Amino acid sequence: MRYSALSLVRDAIFGSSERPAWRDAAPRDSYDAVVIGGGGHGLATAYFLASNYGLRNVALLEKSWIGSGNVGRNTTIIRSNYLLPANGRFYESALKLWETMERDLNFNTMVSQRGFLGLCHSEAQLNAFARRGNAMRLMGVDAELLNAAQIRRMHPYLDFDNARFPILGGLLQRRGGTARHDAVAWGYARAADRAGVDIIQNCEVTGFDIRDGRLAGIHSSRGFIKTAKAGIAVAGRSSILAERAGFRLPIESHVLQACVSEAIKPLVDNVISFGAGHFYISQSDKGGLVFGGGIDGYNSYAARGNLPVIEDVCEAAMALMPMLGRLRMLRNWGGIMDMSMDGSPIIDRSPIDGLYVNAGWCYGGFKATPASGLCFAHLLARDEPHPDAAAFRLDRFTRGHLIDEKGAGAQPNLH
Ligand SMILES: Cc1cc2nc3c(=O)[nH]c(=O)nc-3n(C[C@H](O)[C@H](O)[C@H](O)COP(=O)(O)OP(=O)(O)OC[C@H]3O[C@@H](n4cnc5c(N)ncnc54)[C@H](O)[C@@H]3O)c2cc1C
Repeated sequence: MRYSALSLVRDAIFGSSERPAWRDAAPRDSYDAVVIGGGGHGLATAYFLASNYGLRNVALLEKSWIGSGNVGRNTTIIRSNYLLPANGRFYESALKLWETMERDLNFNTMVSQRGFLGLCHSEAQLNAFARRGNAMRLMGVDAELLNAAQIRRMHPYLDFDNARFPILGGLLQRRGGTARHDAVAWGYARAADRAGVDIIQNCEVTGFDIRDGRLAGIHSSRGFIKTAKAGIAVAGRSSILAERAGFRLPIESHVLQACVSEAIKPLVDNVISFGAGHFYISQSDKGGLVFGGGIDGYNSYAARGNLPVIEDVCEAAMALMPMLGRLRMLRNWGGIMDMSMDGSPIIDRSPIDGLYVNAGWCYGGFKATPASGLCFAHLLARDEPHPDAAAFRLDRFTRGHLIDEKGAGAQPNLH
């Protein structure tokens, strides 16, 4: 069924013709290609494999249900305000794909280009943001450096004259914003299914059949599947899957938490990021204020976090928006981040022929979803990197060609 104004009218008159958005497929004996992980990246990869690269016999294996991972847990921010060319090129191509996603997928993913505003609280930070803005413009990405008076007109409720963290300016990317995270998973699942992909839920990959260094098949909780080509896109569980295939990844798994408040009237119409601590905020279409901060800072596979980090986030929130102290928090949750050593992702072949890796998204992988899917599908289908992701190689960690956006060094808990 194709969603359109006409289909809405038809359903209103003749009753709903709605069917499940995708088939609940059972695994077949063999596939030309298998994508492991039913998050945003895996689903987008399966979709592009079938729709752009013409592979028809494709399966996507998800150990739980579609959307149960980080794709359904993130704070939905999309942007392409990167400094380094490798990241700038890739994330800008992602943002362009977000701009056409709803038409491409025939699904309302609620992409809202409400603007992403990063705040500066010192002269040094203002200089760094001016540099970033110039780099973005040189890459053809939109960026505007704003002074405090301009920001005060947009967000009069911020604490501009805070003694410790005065707001001196900010860098605005108007094309940044948010998208409805689980709609992205559902949209890609539906579109991949329509293109012929078997989406197989409750199917955990437990091991790999590797012969003479080549992939021959996959062991799963629903039996053995023969395939010579597979892509791992399991985010926080990337190292576990790599270990099952017999190699190590330069990745650590950390928890990242986020919170949502009770619903209030429209207040925050950009995404705003505090520049002096771990805090960023946006307002959902239901009215809740959605906010989060940095990772918990220790390795974990628990999809929940600790209270001291929430306290830290709330302190930063109060420093920026003191009125938030009167809001009640509705809930908080966590997700497991695949933190790479330089804070940038990996889209590359693995040491096993026929097995490919998509990982290292840290806490910024939602905004990458469409480009990650496209580039990973390109790699799987053609066995060569997509030009937009050519720098995201696994061997950069041994060659020393790190893509260290933050300049924090090879320390995953600092990116
Ligand atoms: C609190 C929070 C806030 C965030 N905010 C943002 C944000 O604002 N903007 C942004 O860009 N990014 C954000 N992120 C990061 C972003 O969500 C992730 O980088 C991105 O979703 C990871 O890719 P994915 O969607 O494919 O991952 P996931 O949805 O986690 O998909 C991986 C899937 O693999 C499955 N899997 C694991 N092991 C196996 C196995 N053995 N067999 C089969 N399947 C398996 C999992 O069940 C899971 O469904 C945030 C993350 C969190 C947790």
